[in-house]
Amino acid sequence: MKGIKANHYKIHLAPDLKQFMFEGRVEVYLEASEPTEAVSLNALDLAIWNCQVLVGRELQSCPFAFDPKKEALTLFLPEHMQGEIALSVAYTGKINNKMAGFYRSRYLVEGKERFMAVTQFEESDARRAFPCMDHPAAKATFDVEMVIDADKSAISNMPIEEEKSLDKGGKWLKFQRTPRMSTYLLFFGVGDFEFMEDPGAVLIRAAAAPGMVHQAQFSLAFCRKALAFAEEYYGVRYPLPKLDLVAIADFAAGAMENWGAMTFRENLLLHDPETTSRAGEERICEVLAHELAHQWFGDLVTPADWKYLWLNESFATYFGYRIVDQYYPEWDVWEQFLQGQTATALERDGLCENFPIEIPGGEHVVINVSTAPIIYNKGGSILRQVEGYVGSDHFRKGLSRYLKTHAYDCATSHDFWEALGAVSSKPVAGMMENWIGQPGFPLVEVRREGETLILSQQRFTYLPRPSDQAWLIPVSVRLFYENGTSKVIETLMAKSTLTLELEKGVRAYKLNDDQRGFYRVKYADKKNLQALEKLVREKTLGPVDRWSLQNDLYALVKKGDADLDIYLAFLAHYVNEEAFLPLISIAVNLHHAYVVSGSGRKNEIASFGADLWGNVLDRIGREPGEGERHTTAVLRDQLLWHAVLYGSEEAAGFARLGFSSLLEGRKVHPDIMRSLMQAGAFLGGAEAFQWLTEHFQASQSEHERMNILAALGCFKQNAVLEQVQAFILDKVPDRNKSLAVGALAENVHAIPCLWEWYLSNQTRFEAFHPVHYERVLAAVIPYGGLGKEDEVKTFFNDSMKKSDKAKDVIKLSLERLEIHSRMRKALNG
Ligand SMILES: [Zn+2]
Repeated sequence: MKGIKANHYKIHLAPDLKQFMFEGRVEVYLEASEPTEAVSLNALDLAIWNCQVLVGRELQSCPFAFDPKKEALTLFLPEHMQGEIALSVAYTGKINNKMAGFYRSRYLVEGKERFMAVTQFEESDARRAFPCMDHPAAKATFDVEMVIDADKSAISNMPIEEEKSLDKGGKWLKFQRTPRMSTYLLFFGVGDFEFMEDPGAVLIRAAAAPGMVHQAQFSLAFCRKALAFAEEYYGVRYPLPKLDLVAIADFAAGAMENWGAMTFRENLLLHDPETTSRAGEERICEVLAHELAHQWFGDLVTPADWKYLWLNESFATYFGYRIVDQYYPEWDVWEQFLQGQTATALERDGLCENFPIEIPGGEHVVINVSTAPIIYNKGGSILRQVEGYVGSDHFRKGLSRYLKTHAYDCATSHDFWEALGAVSSKPVAGMMENWIGQPGFPLVEVRREGETLILSQQRFTYLPRPSDQAWLIPVSVRLFYENGTSKVIETLMAKSTLTLELEKGVRAYKLNDDQRGFYRVKYADKKNLQALEKLVREKTLGPVDRWSLQNDLYALVKKGDADLDIYLAFLAHYVNEEAFLPLISIAVNLHHAYVVSGSGRKNEIASFGADLWGNVLDRIGREPGEGERHTTAVLRDQLLWHAVLYGSEEAAGFARLGFSSLLEGRKVHPDIMRSLMQAGAFLGGAEAFQWLTEHFQASQSEHERMNILAALGCFKQNAVLEQVQAFILDKVPDRNKSLAVGALAENVHAIPCLWEWYLSNQTRFEAFHPVHYERVLAAVIPYGGLGKEDEVKTFFNDSMKKSDKAKDVIKLSLERLEIHSRMRKALNG
């Protein structure tokens, strides 16, 4: 509200974990710069009993009105008031099962159902727990008090300041006052938590459901190190006295950066040596580092509006890798960043249905399936690009300056590049505005005429779309000379074309050295391509460049600019490839071609894949090896499954044995547990289904359950697939249903019945958490729609006329369907 700001909240809560209700009272201390007769607060799904305002020393009841559509509670003051205004609102609310606001999370202890009550407020769900000015820029301080059962414990952002038993039973507790912060970062949780502490200048503590917390040792130790790194790198101390890591079973997202009380899905915090793979271990570190970075980027310095959300997520994404790399350099996490973040971003950003990193709009722009790859993955990749451009030292100084200047306050995009510009002498503002403010990215086409390289740029989209966009591209070119040497030249491409004069003796050139730049490259002259092929085969080019060459080429296949045969022929030069990055990317691309192609080409792609992965597995071994490279372990779990899928007899034989071990109750190595389960489902049938589903329900490990969810997507028989569909809807917990649907959408046997399944259960899917519903659409439409394009298009065009729900995701999924259809036609032609 204009002219009114909230300075302080005092929140009093009495949650009842049996009835799933809570009683609440909030005192809001406001400041009005002009005389006002009404105050509006955000509120949602709360029953408001009473509103009062302090007049003189007396609390007076005041009339109020609640508008559920606007999620607004308006209090009418008894007179025009200015300056300090103190309000009090009494209400009750539900501890809901929506994984939003103040909600309940279910878990089992010795087979018995139990619940904890926790909060998830980002972006706009604090209003479900207490009436407030629910906007990131409306920063205030908070006192939280709770009345809970005597045998329960409570967690909030700050440590407990005072606690006492109540005569009527239960206990009252009060947490220390928070610093100035945004409502979406507040947290409170009540339950039978068990704790593990790591004392230090900042107390770090893990909390989990009974019997689980011993698995948090690994996370606690890494968090201590990550905290030390962050304080040193940012030059700003962590400002709170404690930091809690809370494991929550039912969680819509992966984790949340509540200030001083970060929350996680169980598999992203708890490490179980029997079921946590090395990929899972790495993911724990990455997510922890991500949330830790948010304690500064987001919590200390907050976006002034949701449209600047990238200032949170791009930095957290970047530091999710930067911090892990510091302590586990042998994990090669930057290579995994390129595949996991940059490749995902390039794919998403190549769609016409698109928007810039700084999303126009504001209020209702949220993190969803459409926006996340742009804000997180592209944003993180652009930070890597700008770090490459200004240098690591300037990058670090710029970030530190940004954090110090805006601590406990809010910032906009402009504030970031102002800080970066101030410490470096480069034109950062122009470049950042250019990349943050416009959608998409360029395709740089390059050809050589004599001793001149001619570069041109245009926006890359898979479907034809005229565009006169241009980017300020930090271009790097690695030149390979006849005498065997090489060097990199760097320049800025500011216009649509650029020419570079070469010295004598250049035999080949490779653009976008080490993929620092967020763009794709098309090589127009054959001679250079042939020379590059040789450099790939000899491994003169590094793994990152070997990765980008084939990945850009596959993007051109999807774009319709190159034939799949050209891509497959290019892959022949990777016959002795051993590096993680190119291999994992080839696996993803080949699988995409396999899924999308019609039956005519499938066998050919499968036999190509079976040979390729069979050979790689011969070299790296099918069994996990003692002391092997981290990325080898991650790669094997993927390739083993694909080799079985494509018909490799050796791989199938190995997997059969491994899966029977599981059936017989023996342990298998966690690094191949997922692929063995996937292969077991694929090669098996009803018996495998029964074992997997029984095990799913009995398992105490979310790591194991995630493996089983992936495996459930891999059956071949229609009868079993129907059982899988029913199991997903009836038995898989809400938090994981959409993941299982995603697994089905990767299975060529499950795809043909995906659309009918969606249609007959549409209302159930629509009732999923909004982001999970979007994930279902993003899985079903582009794959399940193949062969049924007209029907699917008409269906959603009609539905979009009636409702805006998931509109962006529907549009981009229909676009992917169109790309797939075109590919299928081209592949079979
Ligand atoms: Zn984040």
